[in-house]
Order: sequence, then structure tokens, then C-alpha cells
Amino acid sequence: MSDCLFCKIANHQIPVNAIHEDDQSIAFPDINPQAPTHLLLIPKQHFADVTAAPAELLGNLLETAATLAHRELPSGFRIVINTGSDGGQTVHHLHLHILGGRPMHWPPG
Ligand code: AMP
Ligand code: ZN
Repeated sequence: MSDCLFCKIANHQIPVNAIHEDDQSIAFPDINPQAPTHLLLIPKQHFADVTAAPAELLGNLLETAATLAHRELPSGFRIVINTGSDGGQTVHHLHLHILGGRPMHWPPG
């Protein structure tokens, strides 16, 4: 989508410090980190949210996020997918948050 911020990041119109990139996804630091390590993993193809993406892509994204998180945060991490207004989603291009580097609280706010 031409007016989508994360599509622009995915196709390199907006540069980011990519931590990981493959043919399906790209990971980069969140601009407003909520933990010492806060990465975003986005698919290169546009899907508005987790309900819109096919299972094969979701599996690939979760596997990639887990591999990245395990490498960057060996003592533990949290993977979050905010969805819809009550879920706190502000960018309507599917993305996984990878958070860690401090003990994470439960329940989340
Ligand atoms: P959500 O609220 O789950 O939709 O998450 C959107 C996230 O995107 C927020 O944590 C923002 O801080 C982050 N974000 C917005 N713009 C950028 C950007 N240009 N680069 C990196 N992260 C961004
Ligand atoms: Zn998009």
C-alpha cells in the first residue's frame, strides 16, 4: 500500500537499521522502545493485521521472531501482536513486537 509506513520500510523507501532481512520479512528497532531491546518484525507483503495474514506466513514470521529473539535475548523475551483498537494497534500493517532486556510484567497494561 502506497501510504503505509511499514510498506515504505519494507521496500526501503524509508531506511531502517535492519537487524534481519529475508525475502518475506524485515526486523528493525522500534522508534519508541518500551524495553531495553524492542524490535519490530514485519512481513514485506501488506496485511492489515494478524487476522488477515495466511497461516504459512504467520508460521514463518513466528519462527523468524523466535530465532531472532533467542539470539538477541537469551535470558527471555516477549512477542506481542497488537490487533485492533482495543489491542492498541496504531500501525495497520501486521507487525510482531519483540521485547526484552528487563523482566516483563504480567498482566500487561
Ligand atoms: P502498534 O502500536 O502495535 O501498532 O505498534 C506500532 C509501533 O511502530 C510502535 O511501537 C511505534 O513506536 C513503532 N513505529 C512507528 N513508526 C516507526 C518507525 N518509523 N520506525 C520504527 N518504529 C516505528
Ligand atoms: Zn503496509
